[in-house]
Amino acid sequence: MTTDQTGQLKQWIDEERDQMIGFLRKFLQARSPNPPGDTRDAAAVVTGLLDRLNLPYRIVSPNAVMPNIISSCEGGKAGKHLVLNGHIDVFPVDETDSRWTADPWSGDIRDGKIYARGACDMKPGTTASIFTYALLNRIRDDWGGKLTLTCVSDEETFGPWGARYLMDHEPEVLGDCVLNGEPSSPLTVRFGEKGPLWLAVTIQTRGAHGAYVHSTESATKIAARLALALESVCDMDFPLPDNLGRAIEASRAAVDKAMGAGAYESVSRVTLNVGRIDGGLKVNMIPGQCRMEIDFRVPVGATREMIMERVNEVMADFPEATLEEIGHAPPAYSDPYGEMVTILQDTVEELRGFRPTPIISLGGTDARLWRYRNIPAYVYGPDPHSMGSYDEHVVLEDFIHILRSHTLAAYRYLRQNTQD
Ligand SMILES: [Zn+2]
Repeated sequence: MTTDQTGQLKQWIDEERDQMIGFLRKFLQARSPNPPGDTRDAAAVVTGLLDRLNLPYRIVSPNAVMPNIISSCEGGKAGKHLVLNGHIDVFPVDETDSRWTADPWSGDIRDGKIYARGACDMKPGTTASIFTYALLNRIRDDWGGKLTLTCVSDEETFGPWGARYLMDHEPEVLGDCVLNGEPSSPLTVRFGEKGPLWLAVTIQTRGAHGAYVHSTESATKIAARLALALESVCDMDFPLPDNLGRAIEASRAAVDKAMGAGAYESVSRVTLNVGRIDGGLKVNMIPGQCRMEIDFRVPVGATREMIMERVNEVMADFPEATLEEIGHAPPAYSDPYGEMVTILQDTVEELRGFRPTPIISLGGTDARLWRYRNIPAYVYGPDPHSMGSYDEHVVLEDFIHILRSHTLAAYRYLRQNTQD
């Protein structure tokens, strides 16, 4: 085996830190809100860098305004195939929200933080993937196997034109292991995630003049009662597979610290959010129609069928309501004690003196797509607290820490799986 280049990689990151921050700011300034999901400007910032670094890549655009970037390189010997994955679309900005203290597309730096939509979810993580890829390219003789970079579109809406398309049409992106920089908090490595199950309920009654309450049921009142009745789904218990119970129990403190007090209670339970209610035309009319959109989050160990059985029991008491499924992705997980988890823990311990805890994420990421195919996929990224909110930001030191951790962990993974 050739000499260990860990010190060289660290030195490059220290020396080139300003360029890396400059790239992240430019990436943030290139607007890529989803919806509508047009990521061409942000993708051009990424390909511009790859061009300057002479790193060949391919663009796969099943939707013309949602390009996906793929680049691969081989090490000096045979080994395993590591895939780096991040998305380039971001949440939209509510233009009426006056609480932003910076222009959401500025990438302004203040008090050691960068502010912008996407500054947490997940342009810092995607930038970490890009520089991990670029830095390991410089020392290809010092590791074995293959490294693939995937920068994808259409993640924020669970859309079909990004990673989902690549999984089905570009086998190059599959690999042996995936590293992703979605927000996780530096204190945790995410080895699994809950799955969304989205339902739309339509309630119809005759409707009437607002004073004639004796003549008809109200669709909005039924919706309110139904929403409360559906809370009973959240009381269900599910058996946990194999070694997950142990890992989940051990993650209690880390989960609450990373995602806020009370988060742990949601890891193993179904949660319910009534995301939208639309009903009624006028204050003095009894609504004859109401539509409600429900966002269940299904824990690991549960299935859509288990949840729907209970939902249908509740629905039986509401004959005016009809149900339609409008979105679903099953929960997914990788081995909480897998090789990449240990590598990340060792790496972060060396860099910062603590070992990140393996946890299950409440929200969804593209990492699930690899987990569905039994390819281990892990998420290690910055603090998630400002995700999707006003004044979204990343602490600069956290960004550099994530970049460093990804670079060194990827290098270590490829090196320890090199065939001599
Ligand atoms: Zn994300």
